[in-house]
Amino acid sequence: MRRIGHVIVGGAQAVPAARTAPVYDPNRGVVQGEVALGEGAVLDRAVTAAMAAQPIWSAMNPQRRARVLFQFKALVEANMAELAALLSSEHGKVIEDARGDIQRGLDVVEFCCGLPQALKGEYTHGAGPGIDVYSMRQPLGVGAGITPFNFPAMIPMWMFAPAVACGNTFILKPSERDPSVPNRLCELFLEAGAPEGVLQVVHGDKVMVDAILDHPGIAAVSFVGSSDIAHYVYSRGTRAGKRVQAMGGAKNHAIIMPDADMDQTVADLVGAAFGSAGERCMALPVAVPVGEETADALRERLVSAIEGLKPGISTDPAAQYGPVVTAQHKARVEQWIATGVEEGAELVTDGRGFTLQGYEAGFFIGPTLFDRVTPEMSAYREEIFGPVLQIVRARTFEEAIALPSRHQYGNGVAIFTRNGHAAREFAARVEVGMVGINVPIPVPVSYHSFGGWKRSAFGDHNQYGMEGLRFWTRTKLVTQRWPDGGAADVSAFIIPTMG
Ligand code: NAD
Repeated sequence: MRRIGHVIVGGAQAVPAARTAPVYDPNRGVVQGEVALGEGAVLDRAVTAAMAAQPIWSAMNPQRRARVLFQFKALVEANMAELAALLSSEHGKVIEDARGDIQRGLDVVEFCCGLPQALKGEYTHGAGPGIDVYSMRQPLGVGAGITPFNFPAMIPMWMFAPAVACGNTFILKPSERDPSVPNRLCELFLEAGAPEGVLQVVHGDKVMVDAILDHPGIAAVSFVGSSDIAHYVYSRGTRAGKRVQAMGGAKNHAIIMPDADMDQTVADLVGAAFGSAGERCMALPVAVPVGEETADALRERLVSAIEGLKPGISTDPAAQYGPVVTAQHKARVEQWIATGVEEGAELVTDGRGFTLQGYEAGFFIGPTLFDRVTPEMSAYREEIFGPVLQIVRARTFEEAIALPSRHQYGNGVAIFTRNGHAAREFAARVEVGMVGINVPIPVPVSYHSFGGWKRSAFGDHNQYGMEGLRFWTRTKLVTQRWPDGGAADVSAFIIPTMG
C-alpha cells in the first residue's frame, strides 16, 4: 500500500496523518494507496515556510525565476512516460490522454518562461511638468491552489506556473482522489532549482480547504472544481479578504446546423463526449441538432459510431477511454442515467452494466446516448460528468442559441456549420465564455486564457495567459518628481491637474 504524504518544507514524515483517504486503482476497482488528510497544523508549517521564502524569491530577478521554469519543463518532459503512467493509474484516463493532460499544463509553463517580458510596467515620461508616472506589477505574497481530480497535472500547472513566475510562493492542495502526480511535479520543481518553500503540496479535504480559506498568511486562492464548492470557496475566501478566482462545473452544448459536415461533426462529438469518460469540464455532453432532419441523421450516425467505441483499461493503447475515477462517481453517473429515463428522455444506448473481462470490479461505464431530452429535465440542467451524451432537438437557430445561453453553466460551447454568418452571429451572441466554431473542445492556448461564465466561474480573472499574470500580481503606480530646488509650487492647495 503506497502512502502519499505532503511535500512541505521539513518533510512529510514529520507530520503523521491522523486521517487518510483511499486512492483507488479505477481499472481494477481496488484501493492502491492512501493519502494523508492534513489539517491546520500542517498548513501552518507550509505557510510559515512559504512566507519566509517569498521575499527572497520575489527579490530574485524575473529571468532567474523563469530559468527554474525552463529547467522544470525539461525535467517534466524527461519524466513524461513515468508521470503519464502514474496519472493514468490513479485517474483512469488512457495513457495518451494523460500525456495530453501534462502537455497542456506544460504549455502554460512555456508561456510563463516568457513572463519577464509581460511583467514590465508602463511608463510615462513628462506626465506633468517634471513629473513621470510608472507602474509596477508586484506579487501578492503566498498563493494557494485547490484543484479537481480530472486534470491532476494541467490544472495545478495553470495555477502555480504564473503564480511563482510573478514572484509569489505557492501552496497546492490537489484532489485527494489522484494526489501522486501533483507530488511528483512539486519534487521536480525543487529539483529544477526552486528554493525550498517556493512550491509545496498539502493534501486534504474540506478541513484543509477551510484552513486555507481562513489562513491570514495566504493572500490569494485559485480554485477549480464543482460549482457549489467553487461558490463556497469564493464567498468564504473573499470574506476573509483574499483575492479569489473559482472555476466551477459545466454543461457544454454542441449546436449542429443543417449544413454541418456530418461525418466530421460526429467524429468530433464522440471524442468530446466520451473521451476521458466524459470527465472533462470542456466535454460536450449535449448535442443540439437544428431541425428534425438534422436530428435524425445525427442520431443514426451517433448510434453506429458509439457501437464502434471501445472503453478499456487505461493502459490499453486500443481503448478510447478508461474507467471513471471512483465507485462512488460511477454510481452517481448511473443514477443520472436512471433519472433521465424517469424524466421521460429516450435512452437510445445504455452504458450501465458494462463490464470488462478480467476487470469486472473496475469503474467502467459504457457510452450512453439519450434522445429527446428537454430543458425542464434535471438530467439536462445538472452536470453528469460521465460518458453520457444527450440530444436536445431544436427547431430553429434561435431556439438552439437560447439553450446554452439560458443554462446555469456557461463554460464552453461549439457550433458545427459551413455558414460563416451563422457562426459569427452565434459567437457574438451566445452567453458562454469559450466558443468553438467547428472545434469541439475549445480550450484556448496558453497565451490566451481560460474561463467560463455564469456558474462556471466566480471572480474576475480567467486562468493563465495575461489574465493569470493579472490575478497573481497587484499594480503599484508611482508618480515621481525630482524638483531642482526652485520656487515652491503655489497651487499646492488645489488638486494637481498636470496642466
Ligand atoms: P470537487 O468540487 O469535488 O473538488 C474540487 C476540490 O475541492 C478538491 O480539491 C476537493 O478536495 C475540494 N473539496 C471537495 N469537497 C469540498 C467541500 N465540501 N468543501 C471544500 N472543498 C472541497 O470537484 P472534482 O469532482 O474533483 O472535479 C470535477 C468538477 O470540477 C466538475 O464539476 C468539473 O466540471 C469541474 N471542473 C471545472 C473546470 C473549469 O475550469 N471550469 C476544470 C476542471 C474541472
